[in-house]
Amino acid sequence: MLPKLLYSMKYLFFLFLIVQTVFSQSKLNPEDTEIWDPEPKVVTPGKSSAPPSDAIILFDGTDFSKWQHENTKKSVQWTLNKDKSMTVKPGEGGIETIEEHGSIQLHIEWKTPAVIKGKGQGRGNSGIIFQRRYEVQVLDSYNNRTYSNGQASSIYKQHIPLVNSTRKPGEWQVYDIIFNEPKYNAEGQKIKSGSFTVFLNGVLVQNNVEILGTTEYIGAPKNGRDDMPGYSSSDYKTSSRRSLTLQDHGDLVSYKNIWMRKL
Ligand code: MG
Repeated sequence: MLPKLLYSMKYLFFLFLIVQTVFSQSKLNPEDTEIWDPEPKVVTPGKSSAPPSDAIILFDGTDFSKWQHENTKKSVQWTLNKDKSMTVKPGEGGIETIEEHGSIQLHIEWKTPAVIKGKGQGRGNSGIIFQRRYEVQVLDSYNNRTYSNGQASSIYKQHIPLVNSTRKPGEWQVYDIIFNEPKYNAEGQKIKSGSFTVFLNGVLVQNNVEILGTTEYIGAPKNGRDDMPGYSSSDYKTSSRRSLTLQDHGDLVSYKNIWMRKL
């Protein structure tokens, strides 16, 4: 008798559960999973290659007012061209933005010389260096073999690009880069790595890769206090924001249409 009673109680219990589930689900509304705040800010996209409405224009071909020499901080002596581009003046040194930056979206167009000269790292070499520490390589990588983690769109000596989507030398190429800066604690120790996502000519070449530390020509990337040449530890504690640099590697590389959006 007792087992039978238990059996029917169990049956009733499950029946209760089913009814309750159906009933409670019927009380759910589509609005329950709608999120209305915050409302994304309106940004007007630029027509064709023009910057969007909230971009910070770093170079539009008019002048070098947003730039200075990377070391002397004096005015830029690179060549300003009639087609609204600029060209590296070999031996003059790199240039940096006067404004420092944290995490950003960067748009920049570049071109290596149409006249092929040199090979490997010696052909159309320049670079875009974020916070003066992390280089996305600029190089003529069209039929120009070099070490894979040093070709165009590599995170120099840290990450090989997924594919080689470079155009021919003398043609304009487009980088769209998402840079998330590393985070440090008050003691200057890294608590979260930064990352790069890079599109070259509309093709994904770096997919959210981890920044291992500073870009180093020789040896391993550095983190912590070691990656702050020229800055005191007190600077380091108060800010990790640094400028964006374009490298003079001795080649006539050109740039144009440079803008960033703060993230
Ligand atoms: Mg370089």
